[in-house]
Amino acid sequence: MDNTTPRIIIAVDGYSSSGKSTMARALAARLGYRYIDSGAMYRAVTLYALEHGFIAAVGTVDTAALIAALPEIKIDFIPTSSGVQHTLLNGRDVEEEIRDLPVSENVSTIAAIPEIRHALVKMQQAFGKSRGIVMDGRDIGTTVFPEAELKIFVNAPAETRARRRLAEMTAAGLKVTYEEILDNIRHRDHIDETRSESPLRRASDAIDLDNSNMTHQQQDLWLMEQVNQTLEKIKEGGHAQG
Ligand code: C5P
Repeated sequence: MDNTTPRIIIAVDGYSSSGKSTMARALAARLGYRYIDSGAMYRAVTLYALEHGFIAAVGTVDTAALIAALPEIKIDFIPTSSGVQHTLLNGRDVEEEIRDLPVSENVSTIAAIPEIRHALVKMQQAFGKSRGIVMDGRDIGTTVFPEAELKIFVNAPAETRARRRLAEMTAAGLKVTYEEILDNIRHRDHIDETRSESPLRRASDAIDLDNSNMTHQQQDLWLMEQVNQTLEKIKEGGHAQG
């Protein structure tokens, strides 16, 4: 891609553990774009809430205390030597902790609080100001960047997603069972789909991807095809954004 090629916003939305993050990260690296994992931001807020005693039991959050603490919560991302960026919560690297089960069990409850969503959506929009970004999440194509030039909606059956997540977590040395993960995925799907504030929805102009039977390589090829077609359309339309 030469430097006359417009830099676009790519929104990758979909269900939990559908492989969105891996694909979005690889796509950003290939395009020389910034990658933002919006789920990691909701996870970081959840970790903050757990550490400050704002969660008494799974799903029971002291919402008022957490909202009052929002100005104290700073989230950022730093690149690491492995090429995978890490999430920072108030300057501390929390990449591992935010993937643990206590965070996974509570994150959808935290993500359903409208004030939390408003604050994080603002931060996400600020990350997209200079364009050339791939962001993955649940509401990127509908709420964060409704104007994104390319929107992908990823889906795969819950069982397929649970098997994948089990393999990842086991490889990372975490002790969890398939049933625990499947329950957690179904639970999060339900909360994400039924919350009143920007629920998980496919944007009407999104392109669907069911990657159950695709290798990473096939998926990467498919994605690059979508990017190239989008860039061609922008060039033909003559409204390239620099
Ligand atoms: O993507 P990931 O599974 O890490 O996201 C964790 C949780 O954060 C999701 O289950 C969902 O509840 C919430 N989330 C959200 N909106 C986003 C990204 C994540 O509500 N844009």
